[in-house]
This record gives sequence, structure tokens and C-alpha cells, in this order.
Amino acid sequence: MKPAPFAYQRPTTQAAVLDLLARHGAQAKVLAGGQSLMPMLALRLVRPELVIDLGGLEGADRLAARDGQLEIGPLVRHQQVVESALVRTEVPALAEAAGWIGHLEIRNRGTVLGSLAHADPAAELPALAVALGAQMICHSQAGERIVPAGEFFLGLFQTALAEGEMLVSCLLPLGAVARASAFTEFALREGDFALAAVAASLVTSPDGRVAEVRLAVAGMGPAPVTNETAQAQLVGQVPSPAVLREFADAVLSQAEPADDLRATASYRLKLASRLIVEALGESISRNPKGGVSRA
Ligand SMILES: Cc1cc2nc3c(=O)[nH]c(=O)nc-3n(C[C@H](O)[C@H](O)[C@H](O)COP(=O)(O)OP(=O)(O)OC[C@H]3O[C@@H](n4cnc5c(N)ncnc54)[C@H](O)[C@@H]3O)c2cc1C
Repeated sequence: MKPAPFAYQRPTTQAAVLDLLARHGAQAKVLAGGQSLMPMLALRLVRPELVIDLGGLEGADRLAARDGQLEIGPLVRHQQVVESALVRTEVPALAEAAGWIGHLEIRNRGTVLGSLAHADPAAELPALAVALGAQMICHSQAGERIVPAGEFFLGLFQTALAEGEMLVSCLLPLGAVARASAFTEFALREGDFALAAVAASLVTSPDGRVAEVRLAVAGMGPAPVTNETAQAQLVGQVPSPAVLREFADAVLSQAEPADDLRATASYRLKLASRLIVEALGESISRNPKGGVSRA
């Protein structure tokens, strides 16, 4: 099938993108890496009047540490993140999560912000953003809105992005939580979407107890699944395997897994429980010896 006819513009400034978005509203679609939008156009799942290609935006591939945060611009590709020494050291879970996305050809084109804006329930990066407390920077002609990742993913392919807005960056807090972060997933074949995936970070204090824990699961409902109450209750405990399994159960009590051709809901729950314990174990092993002092 071929896409329905559409007009195409490739502005070179963000102001010009916002102007086009303001003038065309819901009839316009932003194109980043095209790895989700092009198939949707070809299948006529979307029929925009105008496609606004971000490919000409100067400096949009910025990936840098600034004021204690990692700033990810709208043209940062998955593979750029996988290969970044800064990301691999400071936010290892981000490099790992991006490495699970599709195949190399897809990672070379697809962008981090495109994946966040697309909000596929099985996608790796929305769970990562929720787990690590990212902030989504949304711009429109009306100005800037900063939306915490925990409030950005509203449901199946639904985000808090309003008409006329684009994501101009995602900010990930740097520090002990990001440095100890880990990501794991299970897919039936290499390059497939995950049956379940987990982004986690568990920071221990010098006495070996949990100082902070952050976790979100993908593929277990219409949006990333997390449980802030369970996270708060884990603080101060010794993270033994039994305690971590109990925590996994508490997180997954919020999940709404579905039966489909690839797996049953009950299989997904068992799988996610194993992955949660695995990701937390990996994160614990990434803590500096002697834990992190919070003084
Ligand atoms: C074979 C195959 C396998 C795949 N496997 C995976 C996988 O394992 N995991 C995974 O997560 N994804 C996977 N994908 C999907 C795809 O890789 C991601 O969704 C993709 O990387 C999204 O980024 P993009 O830059 O290509 O976005 P695009 O396709 O360009 O855009 C996607 C959507 O986001 C919007 N958008 C893009 N950028 C912005 C912005 N800055 N502001 C506002 N809206 C924006 C677009 O308008 C569109 O609605 C796969 C795709 C294919 C074809």
C-alpha cells in the first residue's frame, strides 16, 4: 500500500517547525527517523495533510551532560546512544535499552524522542524514561511545558503532547541512580518487540540497605508500569532475593498484561517477575563498593 498524498516541508529552524504545527494542527505530523511513522503512513493508519521533516534542524542531535542532566535532542538516534561513552558510563540502562530496539538499520534511523512520542506499550525507552524520572520538554508557539515522564505516557500510543507541540528534548537526571541503572528484556527473536522489559536502578547505602529504587516495566499494559508506594517501602530494607521477589509482585500488581499470539498474560507476569529481579541484581552490582553515602 502507498501513503495517501501529503505535503512535505523540511524546515531548518525549530521556530519554523512550531509555526507549521500551529498552522496545521492535527493535520500535521512530525517526521524524525520515520521508523514508526513511515509504516503508519504506508498502511494509511495516519493520513496527515503535511509531514514536517525534522531532518534539517541544526544541532538537533545534541546528546550532552548539562547542569546535572543528560540532554537528548530530537534527532539523537538510538545507535548514537548505544555508542556514546558518556551514556554507557553515566546512564548504562539507556545504552542497553536502545541496543534492544529493532535491528541496526532501525537504530541508525530511529530517534529516542520519536520513540517517546510514539509511546508504543512494548517500547523500551518510555519505561526507561519513567524509571529514571526523565522530564519531557515540549514546545509550541504558546511556550514551553515540562512534563515528568511519569505523567507523559497516558496509554496505548497516547502521550501528554498537545496539538501544536513537539518534543524538543528529554532530560535525564545524572548521578548515583542513573549510574547504577540497568535494563533487561526478553523478546522471542532478536529485533522483535519485547514480551516484557525492565528498566531499574537500586542504590545501596554503605550499610547495604536500599537507599533509593526506581523501576518501570514495558509490555505489561498500555503504558509503562511502576509502583511508587512499593518503591518507597523498599527503602531501608536489605535487598535479599526474597525481598526483591516481593517487590516484583507489588510492582506487577499494577500491571494489565494481555494474552496475544506471542504469550499469555500469566506467562508475561512470570517473565516480568524474573526480569525485575534480574535487573535489580544487575543494578546492585553496579553500585560503588561500600554503597553510596547520602550525607
Ligand atoms: C522492524 C521494526 C522493529 C522495531 N522494533 C522496535 C523495538 O524493538 N522497540 C521499539 O521501541 N521500537 C521498535 N520499532 C519502532 C521504531 O524503531 C521506534 O518507534 C522509532 O525509533 C521511533 O523513532 P523515529 O525517530 O523513527 O520516529 P518517527 O517514526 O519519525 O515518528 C514516530 C511518531 O513520533 C512522532 N514524533 C517523532 N519525533 C517527534 C518529536 N520530536 N516531537 C513530537 N512528535 C514526534 C511522529 O510524528 C510520529 O507520530 C521498530 C520498528 C520497525 C520498523
